[in-house]
Amino acid sequence: AAKTAGKRQWRRYHPALQSGMAERAKLQEGLDSSSIETSFMVLYQPIVELASGRIAGFEALVRWPHSARGMVLPEQFITLAEESGQIVPLGAWVLDQAAAEAVRWEEFVLRGGTADRNTPYVSVNVSPRQFRDEEFYNVIRRALDLSGIEPSSLVLELTESVLMYNDERILAEMSALTDLGIRIAIDDFGTGYSSLSYLREFPISILKIDKSFVDKLGRSPEQYALVEGITHLADTLGLTVIAEGVEDVRQQESLISMGCPFGQGYLFAEPVGAEEAKHLVLAPPLGRMAGLAGTPTEG
Ligand code: C2E
Ligand code: MG
Ligand code: MG
Ligand code: MG
Repeated sequence: AAKTAGKRQWRRYHPALQSGMAERAKLQEGLDSSSIETSFMVLYQPIVELASGRIAGFEALVRWPHSARGMVLPEQFITLAEESGQIVPLGAWVLDQAAAEAVRWEEFVLRGGTADRNTPYVSVNVSPRQFRDEEFYNVIRRALDLSGIEPSSLVLELTESVLMYNDERILAEMSALTDLGIRIAIDDFGTGYSSLSYLREFPISILKIDKSFVDKLGRSPEQYALVEGITHLADTLGLTVIAEGVEDVRQQESLISMGCPFGQGYLFAEPVGAEEAKHLVLAPPLGRMAGLAGTPTEG
């Protein structure tokens, strides 16, 4: 009886935890029972050249539209999908969608006949569990073959946690991918692993500076110094930098002034559906400073 009472009390005093666990179980159940092709969708967020507002690529971001819950964001289900292993087929599906879309952009650019447009690349997030899966290389090969995408138009985003252990297998796996012509980006750069030596060890092409560093740009000299330092480091190592989460013109200006070439964020565009992304490919440059490259912005 005491046990029951205790339980009841626990229920009464921790309703949030209780419902959080139930919610999680329900989400997991929904994930497990959903068919990937019919349940998920992929959105695309432009990655732009900061000085011109021109689109260089798009990041593919998965969504789970749910009849009762609305649009479920990755924060709420990626971890669950990693735990259950479902991230492996889900990630492969996202990759196939994204690669097929990039091929459509290429056709669109060619048909559009606009000589000054390059075909945007597509950048796909890869979770550690996917990357470690022994079939990963074959999944990539299959996606390339199925879609016909140029390997140079595909970027894979890995987080620093994948590189935590400087292990021969990880290096071999990454080299096999880059030998195909695929580029590798480090996502959320600066938030994970503290050693920088891996930047020399692994065949990395792109650093994506985490939004948390970009947030206070323009308001904090320390933050400015950090982002500028990362930009210079990347430059010295021959890496490209993309700033994540650029939300206002002041951040854009700061980034341009320190030599950061690319950015991504709500200032330019939120993640959009495939159809809208296709239209953005031929649309005028994005952002308020679009076309003002080289013009002084003070005052
Ligand atoms: P991420 O790869 O760092 O993606 C950037 C996130 O920042 C996206 O959130 C994007 O919508 C959001 N974002 C972009 N610009 C802004 C901005 O200006 N302000 C703010 N506040 N947010 C901005 P999203 O789509 O919710 O994705 C969250 C995370 O989920 C991603 O972070 C990525 O780690 C993961 N994820 C998304 N799609 C996939 C996928 O297909 N596979 C895997 N494994 N992970 C994915
Ligand atoms: Mg990413
Ligand atoms: Mg990121
Ligand atoms: Mg991030």
